[in-house]
Order: sequence, then C-alpha cells, then structure tokens
Amino acid sequence: MTVGTLVNEKNPYELAMQNFEMAADVLGLEADIRAMVRAPERVLAVTVPVRMDNGKVTCFEGYRVQHNTSRGPAKGGIRFHPGVTLEEVKALATWMTWKCAVMDIPFGGGKGGVTCNPKEMSITEIEHLTRRYTSAILPIIGPGQDIPAPDVYTNSQIMAWIMDTYSMTRGYLVPGVVTGKPICLGGSLGRNEATGRGVFYTIESACQHLKLPLKGAKVTVQGFGNAGSVSAHLLDGAQADVVAVSDSRGAIYNNQGLHIPKLMLHKEKTGSVVGFSGAEEISPEELLALECDILVPAALENIIHGENARSVRTKIVAEAANGPLTPEADAILEDKGTFVIPDILCNGGGVTVSYFEWVQNEQHLRWDLHEVNSRLERIMKNSFSEVLETKLQRKVSMRTAANVIGIARVVEANKSRGLYP
Ligand code: GLU
Repeated sequence: MTVGTLVNEKNPYELAMQNFEMAADVLGLEADIRAMVRAPERVLAVTVPVRMDNGKVTCFEGYRVQHNTSRGPAKGGIRFHPGVTLEEVKALATWMTWKCAVMDIPFGGGKGGVTCNPKEMSITEIEHLTRRYTSAILPIIGPGQDIPAPDVYTNSQIMAWIMDTYSMTRGYLVPGVVTGKPICLGGSLGRNEATGRGVFYTIESACQHLKLPLKGAKVTVQGFGNAGSVSAHLLDGAQADVVAVSDSRGAIYNNQGLHIPKLMLHKEKTGSVVGFSGAEEISPEELLALECDILVPAALENIIHGENARSVRTKIVAEAANGPLTPEADAILEDKGTFVIPDILCNGGGVTVSYFEWVQNEQHLRWDLHEVNSRLERIMKNSFSEVLETKLQRKVSMRTAANVIGIARVVEANKSRGLYP
C-alpha cells in the first residue's frame, strides 16, 4: 500500500465522500445536484483562547460545520477530543445530514468540535472552553438555525453551559438552542440513553431478520462511553452474553459474560473498564478478532479497516459509533456475509430523541419516558425496515441502502425548494 492511500484511508471526509458517490451512482444523480448536496453549506473555524488554571492562556482550535439545511435546521453534536480536525468535523456533519433524513426527522446536518483533551483539563477549564467556543459560534447557532448536542467527551453539563451562554446574550432563556441538556433545564427524559437504546432496537430488528436469537448471543463492545455502555446494558438485559468490552485504556474479556451493571459501576469509580475483577485483560485488537455474534463498535472512526477487517469474525456489526468502518472494511465484511447495521441508521436514536427534546422545548411541554421510548422504538424499527427493504430491492449493502434513502430525501427537498435566487 502506498503512503497516499494510507493517508486517504485515514481522512474521514474523503471516506464519507466515497460512500456518498456510491449511493449517488445508485440513484443516478446528475452532476449539478450531486455537487450541491455533497459539499458543506457553511464551515466556521474559530480560535478559542482559554486561561488555564496555571494562569497561562492556551489557544484551542474549534469548528462548526453546517453540511446541509434543505430539510431543516442543522443538527449535530459537539466533540471535545484531541483527534478533532476540520476534515473529521466535515465528515461527521455530512453523516448527520443523511442520518436525520434516514430517521425522517425535520433537521439538516451539522457538527462541531474542539481539538482538546478534556481528560487532562479541570472542570473550570472545560467550562471556560465551552463558553468561549459557544460565543465564537454564536452567530450561526439557534433553535431555528443550528442546534448542537453531546458527542464524544461532551455531556449534559456542557450543554447547560452552551445554553446559558447563548441565553445570556439574548437576555432570556432559550432551551431549544441545544439538546441533551440536564432534565432540570428542559432536557428530555430518555435522551441520555437514547443512542444506546436505538442501537439495541436495530440489533433486535437485525436478529429478527437473520433469525438469530438475541438470548445467548455473544456480544463484544468496542468503546464503553455513553453509547457503548447503554447498548451493552440493554443487550445484557435481553440475556445476550456481553463477553468483551474495551475503552481507550484497554480491553477485558470473560467467556461466560461480563456482569454489566457491576462493570458500569467499576467504570464510574475508576474511569476505565480495565482492572474489573470478573475478567481477564486482552488487547483491543484481540477484542475485534474475537468470534462472536454481534460486534458493537462504539468509539471513533476507522476502527475496522483494510488491515484488520479480515480477522473480524461476527455475524452482525452494529455501528454505535460514527464511521467505524472504512469502505475497504465494508467490502471485506460484505464478502464474508457479515450483516452491517450502518451508523446513520444504528445510532440515529440519539438525534431522534434530540428532536423530541427540541419539540418539547418549542412547545413548552414534557413527555413522559414511556412516550419518548415508544416513539423512539417506532421510528428506529420503521427506519430499519425501510433500509432493509431498499437493500433487498436494489441488491446493495445496508450502508448504501441507508445512504440512498437519506440522500434521496435531501435531494427531493433541495429540488422542491429550487435554487435561490
Ligand atoms: N452526536 C450524536 C450523533 O452523532 C447526537 C447528535 C444530536 O443529538 O444532535 O448522532
């Protein structure tokens, strides 16, 4: 492999575009509409100076990308992570556009990020970073314009600071500017668990389709943050055996199944899954190669690629993360007959309940948990059926089928609106 292809393989935006072109070919999209819907509408890069606890100022790089707003305001999370780059944020924003369209919720796609390591920052530093970043992107966000949410290493507290910063400049409380807020500030019941719960519903649908009993199914989970831990917990509750789990510090394994509630407590106390008493330590690469029924990548992009995809031995890959498989990995797994539930379908539960939160905020009312979860289940299962039907009809992969549906909806909206001026 040449260095050139290695670099390309690592650029998530180029990989997102590769998948876009594949689906656009299936749809037979003309060149002009293709060019209009592929490129981000707006890209904002900001410098975020923060006075650190030691008295010195550090300047962080931040971004907010609005990929497409044909179907509604831009929607998507904000990531605080050392690996954040503009190319990554552009890829994540693009995926949000197709994701909202596949879920058929009236939002476009956006994403934000700051290149930083919150694990090495104090709470005060993170608050100052959040508020300064918010004020830098403030001209382009708002409940009708662009609505951020949590993503990797951001949480409801950070959303509260974003909402407060925005509201202070307006002079009144604007809860609908951000989703994933604390419940006491207009957050929706069920939002925190929504991504993992949605992942679980799509796994149930996939198992039903493949006639694979979930009870007793062997599961491995790569990444034990919000999405990974909630998925693992729900799968454990459905009597699947979660045999291996990893996080940024390492991986653990127990052939009899890990005790997930105890593991969640251990992670809360120690900050990692490593050192859990009911398990042996393995390497993260070993985890990906374990023979299992369901593999849930729940961390970052490009985890399974051309070099390691052949060693993956699972019936189902459920993409709780965004972009965990490269197109090269896709082709290898497709050849093996692995059933992949693509990210824009699998993890769409998060943004779906974000939509519910925004609707509740805009209407000043509250839904109970049962209402949230039953609406979520209906949307996840409908979207799954639509993607599966398209896959079978067009004889394409689940990923291409999901992209075909998402892109077609965006194109339809775009064409109906016409070209301004
Ligand atoms: N960050 C999540 C995602 O990638 C949620 C986005 C949202 O709720 O707006 O889908």
